[in-house]
Amino acid sequence: MIVQLNKQVSANQISNIQSFLKEQDFDYIYQDFNHQLIIPALKNKSLLSHFDFISQSIEITTPYQLSSLLYKTKTSFDVDGIEVGGNDLNLIAGPCSVESEDQIHEIAEFLNKQQIKFIRGGAFKPRTSPYSFRGLGNKGLKYIREAANKNNLRVVTELMDLSNLDDVYNHTDIIQIGARNMSNFSLLAELGKTKKPIMLKRGMSAKATEWLLAADYILSGGNENVILCERGIRSFDIQNRNVFDLGVIPLMQSLSHLPVFADPSHGVGKAAFVNKMGLAAIAAGANGLMIEIHPHPEKALSDGEQALTFNEFETFLNATKPLLSAINKSADFIESNNILKLQTLL
Ligand code: PEP
Ligand code: MN
Repeated sequence: MIVQLNKQVSANQISNIQSFLKEQDFDYIYQDFNHQLIIPALKNKSLLSHFDFISQSIEITTPYQLSSLLYKTKTSFDVDGIEVGGNDLNLIAGPCSVESEDQIHEIAEFLNKQQIKFIRGGAFKPRTSPYSFRGLGNKGLKYIREAANKNNLRVVTELMDLSNLDDVYNHTDIIQIGARNMSNFSLLAELGKTKKPIMLKRGMSAKATEWLLAADYILSGGNENVILCERGIRSFDIQNRNVFDLGVIPLMQSLSHLPVFADPSHGVGKAAFVNKMGLAAIAAGANGLMIEIHPHPEKALSDGEQALTFNEFETFLNATKPLLSAINKSADFIESNNILKLQTLL
């Protein structure tokens, strides 16, 4: 249940209702910035009917509350002039890691030529082995920000640890929370206090409900700009890097109002399959995609096996056009009048 209190509610009234909830053994969160109580276990609103300062109660039958589609119709928000989660498919592309100033500038120039609006690139990299390349750190943040500014791009980069929050915050437009940190609840709660858009990747073994509860950690702090991103889960067969869970895309769309993105690169881990799975994710209803590209995948310092070359990425972009047209969807990298032209062609 989400209980909205009147705007004029007094401190005394707030403390009365909180004491009542404690006496009744209800866990809750009180959001003081909008006078809202979130009480997941409360099923019957009549229990609070003697409080005359409640303006609205929304019954939410799922454990996750603020991310639920029962709470809100579909969310979209602006990221520096580009709408995320609207009718346009959003496309984020870039290298797994920022490796050098030249590398990220070369990629940014290429993306700008393709009319792509978002560049990705990790500066702080979560690597399985401590002996692998772990990113350029703050230098990487500086390089990707500069490359993006020069090429009309918005930045998506990963935050691994709270100690880097200010630096990442100041250099990115969307903060990526990686699969390994989906359950880092203190990190998520801190991000809830900011207004920065967060792309929350699905944990490697996270169920839908766990993923949405993780989103609620951010939303309950007051940050409403959350994107979910499917990136494959661990299963028994590891011939593909992960099991790219296409079915979770329509599932999330039916459970949550949050934009749902998909990352076929980590989903399958093989460049040769990324295009097919990217198209499949669009057909399954993703609001956006994140794809790893590299000018020389064989020399990449991380995830080279799954990176598309520039040519392969262009092939992918061309392949999206008839599909988008067939499902009547526009994209942030295609001028809207080109979409109309495609539609008359088909
Ligand atoms: C990445 O996007 O490079 C990454 C490390 O992703 P994930 O957290 O999904 O493994
Ligand atoms: Mn990667």
